[in-house]
Amino acid sequence: MDIKKRVLPHLLNISPYVPGKPIQEVQRELGLTDVIKLASNENVFGTSQKVIEAICKAAPEINYYPDGGCFYLREAIAKRFGVKSEQVVVGNGVDELIRLICVSMLGPNDEVVFADPSFVMYKISSMVANATLISVPLKDKYYHDIPAMLDKITERTKLLFVCNPNNPTGTIVNKADVELLMKKVPDHVMVVFDEAYYEYVANPDYPQTMEYFKSGRQIAVFRTFSKVYGLAGLRVGYGFVPEDLADVIHRVRNPFNVNELAQVAALAALDDPEHMKKVIALNAAGRKQLSGEFDRLGLKYAPSDSNFILVDVERDSQAVFEALLKKGVIVRPGKFLGFPTCLRVSIAGEKDNARFIEALTEVLA
Ligand SMILES: *Cc1c(COP(=O)(O)O)cnc(C)c1O
Repeated sequence: MDIKKRVLPHLLNISPYVPGKPIQEVQRELGLTDVIKLASNENVFGTSQKVIEAICKAAPEINYYPDGGCFYLREAIAKRFGVKSEQVVVGNGVDELIRLICVSMLGPNDEVVFADPSFVMYKISSMVANATLISVPLKDKYYHDIPAMLDKITERTKLLFVCNPNNPTGTIVNKADVELLMKKVPDHVMVVFDEAYYEYVANPDYPQTMEYFKSGRQIAVFRTFSKVYGLAGLRVGYGFVPEDLADVIHRVRNPFNVNELAQVAALAALDDPEHMKKVIALNAAGRKQLSGEFDRLGLKYAPSDSNFILVDVERDSQAVFEALLKKGVIVRPGKFLGFPTCLRVSIAGEKDNARFIEALTEVLA
């Protein structure tokens, strides 16, 4: 059998996701021991001690299937945000929720609008559904162009993704632009706000999209336990969606899409606001440190409201990335992010930030 002729042909156009390089891979390939990873916007400050205790306590029960409906977690999220649990969906990361909304809503004659460069999963999951991609370039290098995105809407548009803060730029879409979007977007288009970095944003100009949701607007708002809560390895994200869409997602999703330890951990994480506050403060300090160092080095960067910074090294950043690897510092090269002269670096604590800056200074010299 010629498998490439038997699979769905549109799937062969998908470029596989390129993840950040794992620490062990760099250790193995380059024979290094002391390696730091600032490549995947992980929470390098670690998860809450309460989470670790909850996981240990639940570990003896993993011979049982998890609660496929995530009952307690959905209840807790609903209560925290003041919505009905029927409006909450939980997934194997926001990645899965993006996939689920795409395969639930999109088919070959449908269009999906998103900014470019932005989070690549909108593109991949829309391609899985064989929809038509309508990508709208960022304006002023780093920002969603909401009027241009509105202009691209047609009768066939079903989804419009807003990544806020945007990955890989770390920049926000402000209140006025979201207000404009909510005013102008036609009723047949579902707007999806991907707010994976929501908790890190302190900018007063950041919109509270949940207010629109709670007022009855048919939008989706996605948040995750992977970033500020430090649970990237367990895979759990959540979304607020209209009840009718939640109903469809429950039919489409795998029956046990969120594993037991992830559910237990997410519940414990919600219960430790002090840890979250600490992480947010450490991140803010790290962001200030890195921005200050970039200013000192004369490097341009996108103004970040998240836990990573896109910095322009004004040359092919692949070579810079590789030279940094040899020094045991993993960052994300811009090539696959749509910014070939930039590096995306996750914010760490003072010591690791300083180590990155020292390595970068040597490499650029
Ligand atoms: C990290 C990230 C996600 C994915 O989060 P998971 O919950 O780990 O799948 C979603 N959207 C954006 C913009 C991200 O940066």
